[in-house]
Amino acid sequence: MDHIAEKLQPILRTIEHRNAGEVEFHQAAREVLESLGRVIERHPQYSDEALIERICEPERQIIFRVPWIDDKNQVQINRGFRVQFNSALGPYKGGLRFHPSVNVGIIKFLGFEQTFKNALTGMPIGGGKGGSDFDPKGKSDREVMRFCQSFMIELHRHIGEYVDVPAGDIGVGAREIGFMFGMFKRLNNRYEAGVLTGKALSYGGSRARKEATGFGTVYFVQSMLERRNTGFDGKRCVVSGSGNVAIYAMEKIMAFGGKVIACSDSGGYIVDEAGIDLDLVKQIKETRRGRIAEYVDLKGGAARFVKGGSIWDVPCEIALPCATQNELGAAAAKTLIENGVIAVAEGANMPCMPQAVQIFQAAGVLFAPGKAANAGGVATSALEMQQNASRDSWSFDKTEKKLAEIMYGIHEICHETAEEYGAPDNYVLGANIAGFVRVAEAMDAMGII
Ligand code: GLU
Repeated sequence: MDHIAEKLQPILRTIEHRNAGEVEFHQAAREVLESLGRVIERHPQYSDEALIERICEPERQIIFRVPWIDDKNQVQINRGFRVQFNSALGPYKGGLRFHPSVNVGIIKFLGFEQTFKNALTGMPIGGGKGGSDFDPKGKSDREVMRFCQSFMIELHRHIGEYVDVPAGDIGVGAREIGFMFGMFKRLNNRYEAGVLTGKALSYGGSRARKEATGFGTVYFVQSMLERRNTGFDGKRCVVSGSGNVAIYAMEKIMAFGGKVIACSDSGGYIVDEAGIDLDLVKQIKETRRGRIAEYVDLKGGAARFVKGGSIWDVPCEIALPCATQNELGAAAAKTLIENGVIAVAEGANMPCMPQAVQIFQAAGVLFAPGKAANAGGVATSALEMQQNASRDSWSFDKTEKKLAEIMYGIHEICHETAEEYGAPDNYVLGANIAGFVRVAEAMDAMGII
């Protein structure tokens, strides 16, 4: 990993000062700035025109109150966010996260990453992110509905097919998108299908959207492995999380002949040496919204549950962190390497801490950053926007084929850019530079905006 070029250091200092205490945003910005020294050497106009400074400052940040009434008739207050980061390439695009850890710094880091991720897809989408500190865990369907409706009563004035197109993220799936779409439609008296993505198939959703992030991550890993003349066949894989990303990453690994032996949730992890029974995980997580610990009682056999602890202690050749930010640190990276890991790809956004990334790269482990490896979700959201705009609905196969092409394309551009800038195999550098250059070129063409 590079150090931040001297010329770029004041930019990081300004970010830290202006966004005091927002440590995840500082972390995400530092990682990108570390890659950009080599770019401004070749393209001095980017620093003359303060392009990096402009890209690091969100275009707009919205923070709002979300009052709602719980099942006990008590008034509850949450905070809502939408950070509209960059619209050089298209309308702001990015998910909504509902989780108690959400604050403006988390949303800003996610919006910043999203900007480059979306650029890498090659689709006409800018970057944004939003959400709330609302905790969906333990809430009834009606409570979730009332919260989503109240959230949209404020958000609706800031979004639109040509303005800003939210989707899901942690804590926001098809159920929440449905509640929000219903309220948006009432408030605007307008059937604007393309205002949200991740919709159910019954009213304009895209086939393969639910599967896209996990599938896409595995396609990316497949491309990396191919370059080392190998594949998933027979390899031991560990996938953290058991949400939307993890479940469909596991499904595609299995389809490619890999063996998934562990997954997790915030309570702990399960290990099943016979191979994870994915139907059972889906039943627990998708149908019943239950806990992963239940797997062991239902499955029996040699499956075991480890409360708390680190899933990265489980020996594997391929590790996919698909839970949340900063879930894999230096100690875990060392353990994975000792146990023979050959590839690590981020299904979640920024799950590996900077030291962990450094350790993987120094050891020659193939490492795919989230802004490249998990871009399949938002890319398929852009395909959903295409279908909505043309009032069309594509087959699963057609959509998945497009997703696979996009992922192979992202792998290609990251790989080629890394080589071009003298750091072959460094997908972090390749992704940061390729994403940045696409946004910077568009902004450059539009004058000082
Ligand atoms: N939340 C997802 C991400 O991190 C998807 C965003 C979208 O589909 O707009 O990329």
